[in-house]
Amino acid sequence: MNIRIGNGYDIHRLVPERPLILGGVKIDHELGLLGHSDADVLTHAIMDAMLGALSLGDIGHYFPPSDPQWKDADSLELLAQVDRLIQARGWQIGNIDSVIVAERPKLKPHIPAMRDRLSTVLNLQSNQVGIKATTNEKLDATGREEGIAAYAIVLLLASSVSN
Ligand code: MG
Repeated sequence: MNIRIGNGYDIHRLVPERPLILGGVKIDHELGLLGHSDADVLTHAIMDAMLGALSLGDIGHYFPPSDPQWKDADSLELLAQVDRLIQARGWQIGNIDSVIVAERPKLKPHIPAMRDRLSTVLNLQSNQVGIKATTNEKLDATGREEGIAAYAIVLLLASSVSN
């Protein structure tokens, strides 16, 4: 088999006095995401999709919140580690598609910077990294601005015939 697909989902709580970092981009907002790492929910969903494509479990297995070395970790560094892990197994990313679910702030102006950050870390063209943003029409936790969620799908291509 020379293609694999994976999906990832994550949600983090919005709280005061935390930075809001999405796709490696710090966004000005009065609330930020709570988490052991920098709580970059989009990057976490993408990492889970990459791991899921190879049935390698989830990021909690590789970067457990119980381990102090991941406290306030830069999720882009974790993403680079996951990328090395899939490359070591003979795979590369074909493309990523993702959705961020956030009532506020408006994310559209920040999407080009997020695509740029993520594609740079992953050594991809920015047109291989799809990011969309939607509100939840004020419904449920994301709609009440209690948190921000993200979904991602990743297609992996075999980078060698050994797969
Ligand atoms: Mg997370």
